[in-house]
Amino acid sequence: MRSSFLAATALAGLFSLAACQRGEPAATPPAAPVATAPAGAVPANDNLNAVLWVQTSTEYQALARQTFKAAADHLDQALAEANWDALVPGERANAGTGLKPAVIMDVDETVLDNSPYQARLVRDGKAYDEVTWAAWVAEKKARPVPGVVDFARAAAARGVTILYLSNRAEHLQEATLANLRAEGLPVADDSVFLGLGTYVEGCEQNGSEKNCRRQLAGREYRVLMQFGDQLGDFTEVVNNTAEGRAALMDEYGDWFGERWWMLPNPTYGSWEPAAFNNDWSQPVEVRRAAKQDALDYAQ
Ligand SMILES: [Mg+2]
Repeated sequence: MRSSFLAATALAGLFSLAACQRGEPAATPPAAPVATAPAGAVPANDNLNAVLWVQTSTEYQALARQTFKAAADHLDQALAEANWDALVPGERANAGTGLKPAVIMDVDETVLDNSPYQARLVRDGKAYDEVTWAAWVAEKKARPVPGVVDFARAAAARGVTILYLSNRAEHLQEATLANLRAEGLPVADDSVFLGLGTYVEGCEQNGSEKNCRRQLAGREYRVLMQFGDQLGDFTEVVNNTAEGRAALMDEYGDWFGERWWMLPNPTYGSWEPAAFNNDWSQPVEVRRAAKQDALDYAQ
């Protein structure tokens, strides 16, 4: 069904393209194929386009690659400037000058592409849960985000330690590091994985916030750069509302493209619950209505 529809669509497209190239209107365009949902088809899913974009668009590939390429072009400068540091002042208790250099990388949708997991959720009409997520991580099938391997290897070759600061739970460390190693990412040793639940002396962890683990990294390393797909990968988001997030961008926007590097992720992220007061307990219809209300209609 799917292949025949695609073939029919492709034929129609070729017909139109040929006519336009000749500068003529298509005199008798073929009837457009009508996509009909086969029996048992999955219901509409809000994430379909986002996952499709990540998996199939060259635009996504280009964005990820240009991000890592630009970051690589800043590495030597970051190494040379003794005061260059990518931790916000509030998360840097000790001076970074003179410490070993490191780069902090979030894992999911920054280093590893989990879009097949998202695709399965779309196919199955399911939402994220810890059980299916842990099963996906255990498969170790995540592929690297385009461009990340080249960047990470270039950094490691310069003596920069790659720290993987992730909200994957600590019990997923072994599978995560195996996946990273299998894909050619530098993993100095098991200690470079700073998962959710990592104990940080003198710092009280607030939910899944990463500030304590960033502080831990800063005690041992001068952090040259941070990479993520969420604002919270770079600094603590105390107020996850449109206003709170905008305030952080006002304060740290200039850090992006120098010390901070953001990867595109339209499939999930803290930007979404910011639209419905971070209350996932609301029925899905209520959350969808809140998201629609958050759109800008210029009216
Ligand atoms: Mg992530």
